[in-house]
Amino acid sequence: MKHEGWTKSGWRAFPARQQPVWPDAAVRDETLGELSKLPPLVFAGESRTLRGQLAEAAEGRAFVLQCGDCSEDFSRCTGPDIRELLKVILQMSVILTYAGEKRVIKIGRFAGQYAKPRSSDTEMVNGEEIPSYRGDMVNSPDPTREARTPDPRRMLEGYYRASATLNLVRAFTRGGYAALDSVQSWHRQSLNLLPASQKYEELARQIRKTISFMTAIGFDTNTPQLNQATLYTSHEALLLDYEEALTRQDSTTGDWYDCSAHMLWIGDRTRQLDGAHVEFLRGVHNPLGVKIGPDYDIDDIKRLVIKLNPVNEPGRLTLITRFGTERIETCLPPLVRELGREGFKVIWSCDPMHGNTYQNDFGQKTRNFDDILNEIRTFYRISSAEGSNAGGVHLELTGESVTECTGGSRQLLDHDLRLNYQTNCDPRLNAEQSVELAFELAELLLA
Ligand code: PEP
Ligand code: MN
Repeated sequence: MKHEGWTKSGWRAFPARQQPVWPDAAVRDETLGELSKLPPLVFAGESRTLRGQLAEAAEGRAFVLQCGDCSEDFSRCTGPDIRELLKVILQMSVILTYAGEKRVIKIGRFAGQYAKPRSSDTEMVNGEEIPSYRGDMVNSPDPTREARTPDPRRMLEGYYRASATLNLVRAFTRGGYAALDSVQSWHRQSLNLLPASQKYEELARQIRKTISFMTAIGFDTNTPQLNQATLYTSHEALLLDYEEALTRQDSTTGDWYDCSAHMLWIGDRTRQLDGAHVEFLRGVHNPLGVKIGPDYDIDDIKRLVIKLNPVNEPGRLTLITRFGTERIETCLPPLVRELGREGFKVIWSCDPMHGNTYQNDFGQKTRNFDDILNEIRTFYRISSAEGSNAGGVHLELTGESVTECTGGSRQLLDHDLRLNYQTNCDPRLNAEQSVELAFELAELLLA
């Protein structure tokens, strides 16, 4: 597929929303020059493999688990933080694979999820209007004018931290940590006695028994399938300066890839048909996601799907809906029906986080576990009634024992959130809530 009239800097002629105003153009240009010479973070062939696997998900033969932080934090780019996140993703993936009996494609919101869209350019702090926090690759969350002034050198820092994160993820997933016979030890290291815990122990026991059985009948269990895992990377392709600098031409095919991550998505606020983000992403060959909130226009979405995937190739495009548990009932059916009628081959993924955010009486942004679960359940029910396929979920979670979302089997209440509220941006499920959600999802996959 060639993209007529596309160049990696062509987006500059289109209106680009949500971009920082860099205070010093010379430092920006110098930084971008440096970034564009640094090695790609991922290899085009890997993105192609992912695209092939996603084509399976578009046909209902695989399931996509996309998850991680709302916004990665430079100061949490540490070995233990990365290990804990990886552990919870692997746990969820084992639960879902066992229940669904199909491949679970694991895509992290990590190694580059450093730029955030904001509803307002500025905020008032102690009577002073200062720039909003736009992600660690742009400015610092500290509430001072100086810390909030965008600094282009942060893009370079983001690149190096993304590369350190990816390096450790590759080491863990290739070096034995992801071996299936470790499922029990991943669990023991982290979770306490919750209802989900017993289910998990039972699942781990069954997997161990299956592996022992295979060994007993002479199967070589020393295979990569049992001992390694593949985790792909993704982030919102928001900061176009950074994305352009990491975009390279693949030497094998001559196609362009944004080598900052395997998969990129366009946020609900930057998916304008004639905007810079769509212009940029239409020309790269990575698999793409598009977030769709409740205020969509159906004709707009159809044009967007055609623009981003003109040859209707399965695996290229994932539509990630984020309507909220109240509005999904009215927003999802016409969308899947209409796109299905047109024969568009897309993967439908449910983001049950972004439509369910509210502010509690203590002024904290939070989400309730039951709202999240209900949106996923409704997504499945509608998909099945409309004959479309519920291809995946898109979640914000962490491996840490934070208290940012209410509910779950510990029944966290609004006033409990003060205990360990860490996020710089949106509230995330903690490790326990995530594993619990995976078991609930497993029931849906079994149904
Ligand atoms: C996000 O995924 O963190 C986000 C900002 O989502 P959306 O574009 O759906 O609002
Ligand atoms: Mn978010």
